Amino acid sequence: MAFYVQKYGGTSVGSTERVRNVARRVAKFHAQGHRIIVVVSAMSGETNRLIALAREVQNNPDPREMDVMVSTGEQVSIALLSMALMALKVKAKSYTGAQVRILTDCAHTKARILNIDQDKIRTDLDNGHVVIVAGFQGVDQHGNITTLGRGGSDTTGVALAAALKADECQIYTDVDGIYTTDPRVVPEARRLDRITFEEMLEMASLGSKVLQLRAVEFAGKYKVKLRVLSSFEEEGPGTLITFEENEHMEQPVISGIAFNRDEAKITVLGVPDHPGIAYQILGPVADANIDVDMIIQNVSHDDLTDFSFTVHRNDFNNTMNIIREKIQPHIGARDVIGGDRIAKVSVVGVGMRSHAGIASKMFRVLAEEGINIQMIATSEIKVSVVVDEKYMELAVRVLHKAFDLEQVL
Ligand code: ADP
Ligand code: ASP
Ligand code: MG
Repeated sequence: MAFYVQKYGGTSVGSTERVRNVARRVAKFHAQGHRIIVVVSAMSGETNRLIALAREVQNNPDPREMDVMVSTGEQVSIALLSMALMALKVKAKSYTGAQVRILTDCAHTKARILNIDQDKIRTDLDNGHVVIVAGFQGVDQHGNITTLGRGGSDTTGVALAAALKADECQIYTDVDGIYTTDPRVVPEARRLDRITFEEMLEMASLGSKVLQLRAVEFAGKYKVKLRVLSSFEEEGPGTLITFEENEHMEQPVISGIAFNRDEAKITVLGVPDHPGIAYQILGPVADANIDVDMIIQNVSHDDLTDFSFTVHRNDFNNTMNIIREKIQPHIGARDVIGGDRIAKVSVVGVGMRSHAGIASKMFRVLAEEGINIQMIATSEIKVSVVVDEKYMELAVRVLHKAFDLEQVL
């Protein structure tokens, strides 16, 4: 008998009918004798609805109160699923993150899991219960409710699988696996039977929201066997995230295209070009717990240069304020401009290491479509470009075709 953590996303529990479907699926596994922990998200649209409500009342909602509020979405789902299982005569018990005691740090709205108490869950499993845990939430050492960032239920699932040493963490969602790119943007995208952990990490970090980045990081750190499957189809292999690279098989050069509409670009114009300037600009941004992604510094003219970087769109206003108030007067920069109408498009693949010319092919394909590249970043296994948001889908489609990722019929 196996021990599974199964995570069901928002669409999969989007109505009471769908909750009943999930209950039927869980009951089937339970009847086969498997030990099951289920993690659920809020019903689809609910987290967005709650965030919008908060913003109606406070421009920049207080992070602690925001967490109190958005964590309620998952609380509804766990109770509904527990009731649906009971209706099928399955013993079930639900817990919020705080009730389990999923201990996190104090970083409201993007907290990290530090520890998970196992006692209650183990006792319930031993007594034959299905244990249902609210995704996306925890509690800090002071008893404040915290949340783990958008898409954070994936991380709850993987963290529970790691802490309780489950055989597999199964992420059930509204697609039947990981595809070469988002199948909603490119219908010709191909499902992958396997993807290496390293590639999945890169895809997630570059914006493929099918798995939250932290969930993939956690799975890597604790070697959790992770699989993405459809919650709507009865059967199917899904996609397994593997740790071993098959040395005998040549890796495809490119495994997928990722994109991200969540960033904003800030440019500090006329910056004195001397040692320490990057630190002077980005130090205060880091101190405010804001992650910076791409960075470009131009060649200087007359000892002045322009310095551009990207941050998450949610951090855009805050970053602009920090730069305008704390940095611009201090370093004597001429102006600060910024905008959030950008998108990042990336090609990813571990096979890229040994193949020259991926970047140039990417630039050529985009040029042929008249798409201007605003920023570029490369690593051993990815090339990313920032383009105008309005060209994002076109860029993804033409790159997907140019790199031969389409389904073979
Ligand atoms: P859930 O609510 O189950 O957590 P998400 O919306 O977070 O579901 O993630 C699933 C979605 O991820 C899919 O509906 C799909 O549009 C999107 N997606 C983005 N990139 C990919 C990819 N490479 N493969 C599969 N799905 C992807
Ligand atoms: N409900 C949360 C969100 O919408 C967490 C999740 O779905 O994973 O981001
Ligand atoms: Mg998700």
